[in-house]
Amino acid sequence: MQQVEAGKPLIKFTHCKKRIYSFRVPRCCPLCQQDMGSRKLEEAPVSISHPFTNGHQEKCSFLLRPTQGTFLREYDGRSDLHVGITNTNGAFPLQLLRDSGLVAGVVYNYTAHGVQRDETGWEQSVSIPLLQPGMFGLMDQWDKYLEDFSTTGAWLPHRYEEDHHNCYSYTLTFINCILTTEGREQLDKAEFTEKYVVPRTRKVSKYITLYRAIEVRGFYVVDDPDQETSSAPGSALC
Ligand SMILES: [Zn+2]
Repeated sequence: MQQVEAGKPLIKFTHCKKRIYSFRVPRCCPLCQQDMGSRKLEEAPVSISHPFTNGHQEKCSFLLRPTQGTFLREYDGRSDLHVGITNTNGAFPLQLLRDSGLVAGVVYNYTAHGVQRDETGWEQSVSIPLLQPGMFGLMDQWDKYLEDFSTTGAWLPHRYEEDHHNCYSYTLTFINCILTTEGREQLDKAEFTEKYVVPRTRKVSKYITLYRAIEVRGFYVVDDPDQETSSAPGSALC
């Protein structure tokens, strides 16, 4: 299931002076119907990386995903988002197993049921690494900090309030505890959202638009500014 959730890979190629996005290279160009079999180097397809990460393979990261469903299926740009923090998965010998997906990292998150420690459910997330250069010494204590922080009374189920004491408050308070420990300046919610979250959700929205259009029509076309002066019409080999 997780594999399916990551979505089908996208590719991009150029033809007819357009950038064409699709799930695979078609035999014929969908615009001019010419054979795509032999093409010039600059028309060679490239794969497009998707903006999602399996959150269970990320350590010391802030994660975002839709509260309901997944980005690719249900997210509409305004859907509620749920956020969490990943641990390091403790022992470093486990890292290889974790990278290969055999051991799931834990995603800590706060809901009306208190702090959750999820081993599944964050396979299609947007990830923001929290450890900046110079902070890697923190890694050894990260899991202890996260666990201690999560067991304080502030995050008991009855304290939960949808608008003011929610998953966002939990993650941001934790991030600020870490920043304080490191003698760094704290972030307020607006600043964090503007600087880290919005650029990623904007990228995700663009990708989703592209992906869904391809699901409906089979391809998605945009003008290719690089192609304005090259290849005259009909010059493609076929
Ligand atoms: Zn064409």
